[in-house]
Amino acid sequence: MPMPPYPVLCTTPACGRPAVYKVAARWSDGITSELKTYALSCPDCLSAWFHHSRHEQARCRRAPGEILEPPGIYLLIRGERDRGLPRLEDLERELLSDRP
Ligand SMILES: [Zn+2]
Repeated sequence: MPMPPYPVLCTTPACGRPAVYKVAARWSDGITSELKTYALSCPDCLSAWFHHSRHEQARCRRAPGEILEPPGIYLLIRGERDRGLPRLEDLERELLSDRP
């Protein structure tokens, strides 16, 4: 989905800061694939959302043939579609090493 023209805010209730990152996991049923979004986050809330999403993904039940990859962190770019968003793997590793 293209980004709306107004600033996107952090998913955290009452945070109110602009979202900079998208926490999302690649989902596929073997025919189509898409990014399942867990949260849009500002830098302050990112660590909490990322760990929350990994936890949710691990608990999520999948139908046979369904694939849901561990969530990653993507840089939000205005007007860019999901598949054009760069994935920030270094940041993911950094956050994961915070809390083993
Ligand atoms: Zn926030």
